[in-house]
Amino acid sequence: MIIKPMVRNNICLNSHPAGCAAVVMRQIKYVKNHLAGKGAGEGSPALVLVVGCSTGYGLASRIAAAFGYGAATVGISLEKPASETKPGTPGFYNNLAFDREARKAGLVSITLDGDAFSDAMKTQAAEAIRKAAAEAGIKPKADLVIYSLASPVRTDPKTGIMHRSVIKPIGKSYSGKTVDMMSGKFVTAAAEPATDEEIANTVKVMGGEDWELWMDALAKEGVLAPGARTVAYTYIGPELSWAIYKNGTIGRAKEDLERAAKEINKKYAGAWVSVNKAVVTRASAVIPIIPFYISCLFKVMKEKGIHEGCIEQIVRLYRDRLYTAEARMDPRKTAVDHEGRIRIDDWEMREDVQKETSTRMESATQETLDSLADVPGFRHDFLEAHGFDVDGVDYAADVDPSVL
Ligand code: NAD
Repeated sequence: MIIKPMVRNNICLNSHPAGCAAVVMRQIKYVKNHLAGKGAGEGSPALVLVVGCSTGYGLASRIAAAFGYGAATVGISLEKPASETKPGTPGFYNNLAFDREARKAGLVSITLDGDAFSDAMKTQAAEAIRKAAAEAGIKPKADLVIYSLASPVRTDPKTGIMHRSVIKPIGKSYSGKTVDMMSGKFVTAAAEPATDEEIANTVKVMGGEDWELWMDALAKEGVLAPGARTVAYTYIGPELSWAIYKNGTIGRAKEDLERAAKEINKKYAGAWVSVNKAVVTRASAVIPIIPFYISCLFKVMKEKGIHEGCIEQIVRLYRDRLYTAEARMDPRKTAVDHEGRIRIDDWEMREDVQKETSTRMESATQETLDSLADVPGFRHDFLEAHGFDVDGVDYAADVDPSVL
């Protein structure tokens, strides 16, 4: 079949296998050029678990660990497989492409598909760590655990209750200008304040409880290396997005993630929350204000030559934060801010970048939007996250979606 993007309400409903594979290959190439050979060896990760491994920051974290340090990786994600008549989700193809390239490079990789919030998946992951270690001829202990889930729902394994997260402001309603990514037109996005129940549910889904459960389960199974590191990702962003993000339901959940990091640190040491840059992943297009902000930000960062995507961010996280020569020997030497968080959003939050971005956001009209903001760049990244609009891919070719 010929696969063309099907986008409805800023959600892309399908994906292209060859395009997804090409993007994975490009990230691998970037890692080989910018991380491989820079610090592999003593103190660098050998066996890495990535919870949420198939797209966005989790995929980049897995690629960087494997192709940068030669680590064996176990990845967990929840994706829909392809059939002969229907493409799978992008993460399904990304996982296939990652496993294929890892195998070719002689790297051990095990990918598990299922609900990371469940107890059963935690047990399966421990088994996979043992299996991966046996294949790689190393100790069955994960020395880096990346927690990179982004999910709308979570079933609590203790109660069986399914909680649903929402992206809403707290205390007062929100209304703001944003950009419809596909049409490039300004639209108004509005959201009513969250109820207490919605806040609690969002914290339940996107907060730190499950991260703690993962670390406890791995320790109990005996598959956590002494002095293992673990990192979960968060976003802070500029003040103009705080009403909907940092001070909204998601921000509450992210506060809970920071609470969890402190708890995990007390028990197992080496837990950080890393504040990452705003990038276009499957989820960012549906958050009010974010497409407009990112479009302006990208244009500014590209003009200044400091634009980054997921893979550039994660290479910097490993090379310049977690595994510098000093931090490899002593994790306490990892550079953090006054709250103990790793900051790789430093270039995004630079004063000159923020000033220029907010000036553009204030002055942009429909007529000037194209010159002030990079809406095509946002759209491209969004399509690319689904395997479309990727250089070198023949989109006119007939493909069997069930084969990579
Ligand atoms: P993403 O949607 O690209 O990836 C989410 C991953 O979670 C996928 O691998 C998916 O399969 C997996 N997943 C979801 N539900 C699951 C379940 N029940 N069981 C197993 N796997 C499941 O998301 P992303 O944008 O890379 O976000 C990852 C983290 O990074 C989040 O914590 C997010 O808040 C944070 N972050 C994102 C941005 C951004 O701009 N996108 C910026 C800073 C921080």
